[in-house]
Amino acid sequence: MAWDFETDPEYQEKLDWADAFVRDEVEPLDLVWEHEQFVPLDGLRRKAIDPLKQRVREQGLWATHLGPELGGQGYGQLKLALLNEILGRSSWAPIVFGCQAPDTGNAEIIAHYGTPEQKKKYLQPLLDGELFSTYSMTEPQGGADVAQFRTQAVKDGDDWVINGWKYFSSNAKTASFLIVMAVTDTEVPVHKGMSMFLVPADTPGINIVRNVGLYGEPMNGGSHALIHYEDVRVPADALLGGEGQAFAVAQTRLGGGRIHHAMRTIGLAQKALDTMCERALSRETAGSRLADKQTVQGYIADSYAQLTQFRLFVLHTAWKIDKYNDYKKLRKDIATAKIVMPTVLHDIAWRAMQVHGALGVTNEMPFFRMIHGAAVMGLADGPTEVHKTTVAKQVLRDYTATDDLWPSEWIPRKQDEARAKYAEYLELEVGNL
Ligand SMILES: Cc1cc2nc3c(=O)[nH]c(=O)nc-3n(C[C@H](O)[C@H](O)[C@H](O)COP(=O)(O)OP(=O)(O)OC[C@H]3O[C@@H](n4cnc5c(N)ncnc54)[C@H](O)[C@@H]3O)c2cc1C
Repeated sequence: MAWDFETDPEYQEKLDWADAFVRDEVEPLDLVWEHEQFVPLDGLRRKAIDPLKQRVREQGLWATHLGPELGGQGYGQLKLALLNEILGRSSWAPIVFGCQAPDTGNAEIIAHYGTPEQKKKYLQPLLDGELFSTYSMTEPQGGADVAQFRTQAVKDGDDWVINGWKYFSSNAKTASFLIVMAVTDTEVPVHKGMSMFLVPADTPGINIVRNVGLYGEPMNGGSHALIHYEDVRVPADALLGGEGQAFAVAQTRLGGGRIHHAMRTIGLAQKALDTMCERALSRETAGSRLADKQTVQGYIADSYAQLTQFRLFVLHTAWKIDKYNDYKKLRKDIATAKIVMPTVLHDIAWRAMQVHGALGVTNEMPFFRMIHGAAVMGLADGPTEVHKTTVAKQVLRDYTATDDLWPSEWIPRKQDEARAKYAEYLELEVGNL
């Protein structure tokens, strides 16, 4: 029976290396170049970061989400999960290890659906970590409901002309190309009438109207673009995956992306728990350490329990992805990880913040950022509510309704049935009295 929770010693060595490397070399980047992860490297930043990427390559840990045919290691999702939980500690780490969202998902769909020319033009530089990309799907009037999308691409000779508005197109201001989802046929059901386009960022008509900032970032100084596509003309070969295929392409992309976020969230939540435990052991008040107070012990125990359950679930899901290689089959598991992830991070970061007292709520500790990150995770790649609907529908598939007025577990009927089943012995018992 193969049900093994051990990591190969050889890979564990790599993980130990990655853990020390991220703490010593990569986490400091978060403090010196806080918002520059998605700015193409130049001058001094290149001098500092290229050698770090090289060290990752030498360890065989570059782009581990990819198969060997694409320059990755072919490690699969379980090994990636073990690595990603280390990378989750730092916002620069995924860049230094060549596996950052949204580029991983974008690379995945180009690898899956791209023509050889598209792969050469977009995929290879993306895999080399030399450029960034944007996934431009959400629209201002409604992100969770694709039926509301209005951005349209209309055929004009051999070209397509794209018009419309997109919202929250992350990193558009520094991306070299955008993957744009547009309606190409208004006569068919929405899931058949949309297509994806690969659009170079310097194509005329791509107007970034605002770079929306998240909480704490300067107004209009964020990295989530509101874009007006105005007569953006692209050739026929800009189509990714064929006409009407946007839905299928999007599903391929989002399945992987969501579980990768969950893997990294383990690392971030672990960081909050580690920080909380250190403080609990270090701080004394009212005659004893915080660690000796029952409520604080409750915070630690609840956090450990939540994180351990979440981690095992994510690792099991990663294992299933490797086993079945079919994201569709695993929709329920991936959506479950997606709905649990914001709560786990929020709860643990919140308790860690509370245990730090006033210091916890300052910008000198990372907790508020984590809590904000948890809120983002409840929206990006689809709101929690929508994923709950997915999970519920998938769970319900395994059940059927009963025509009976009483539920199958109605005890009076089951009791009658049980008595009938063992009547012979029940009568004997009575007879023996
Ligand atoms: C940091 C960040 C980065 C992002 N990056 C990108 C990106 O790169 N590219 C991109 O295209 N998009 C991106 N998004 C957008 C993201 O995909 C959308 O925010 C998400 O799909 C929700 O769309 P919306 O914000 O328009 O919310 P709405 O669709 O307006 O939903 C708002 C709320 O309504 C409720 N709701 C919605 N639908 C349902 C339902 N069916 N049942 C019950 N309740 C419901 C939920 O509470 C939901 O939060 C990003 C978002 C964030 C926060």
